[in-house]
Amino acid sequence: MLIKRLKLSGFKSFVEPAELRIEPGLTGVVGPNGCGKSNLLEAIRWVMGENSPKSMRSGGMEDVIFAGTETRPQRDFAEVVLHAEDDFGEELEVMRRIERGAGSAYRVNGSDVRAKDVSLTFADAATGAHSPALVSQGKIAQVIAAKPAERRQMLEEAAGIAGLHVRRRDAESKLRSTEKNLERLEDLMAGLD
Ligand code: ATP
Repeated sequence: MLIKRLKLSGFKSFVEPAELRIEPGLTGVVGPNGCGKSNLLEAIRWVMGENSPKSMRSGGMEDVIFAGTETRPQRDFAEVVLHAEDDFGEELEVMRRIERGAGSAYRVNGSDVRAKDVSLTFADAATGAHSPALVSQGKIAQVIAAKPAERRQMLEEAAGIAGLHVRRRDAESKLRSTEKNLERLEDLMAGLD
């Protein structure tokens, strides 16, 4: 999957709408300390479904919304749109928006979807919020120090099979609830005898 464009509005320090074109090849982001380089990487992770405030360097998910400065009021929402091209050349537009007090909403190519659908889309394409392709500060040390199970998880993300685990967990949970329903049905039938 190729990420081609990123649009941010009200996300962390990006209070004004900003659009970045990501050209093929290696992209570097340079700028003085605190100008928002890491916030950009976090925006990519966030739109891909990241839900851990810790990975967003924040206390809660609403902390990604522009918090205001001495001269500018805070914003009520944050929005990130990512344009990508999948391995079959199909265009993909993924949008995530969070409003204060209302949580997150996702759209893929204009249709409302669940967070899980977005995470699975990226996991199947061997990328996503936890992809080893997104290398943030301290990540290299983390990879070196990772336990074998964590390394396996990284390899699975890279191989594009992370989504299969999510689907397996879903299937197992459906199986458990179906088994419970069957047991209940058997009890009811036994009561009718
Ligand atoms: P460094 O080079 O030091 O790692 P950086 O360029 O990666 O810095 P970031 O860490 O991306 O910079 O950005 C930090 C800036 O983002 C800080 O100025 C911080 O105040 C601002 N910031 C983070 N969250 C918010 C928010 N919710 N509202 C407003 N500003 C925010």
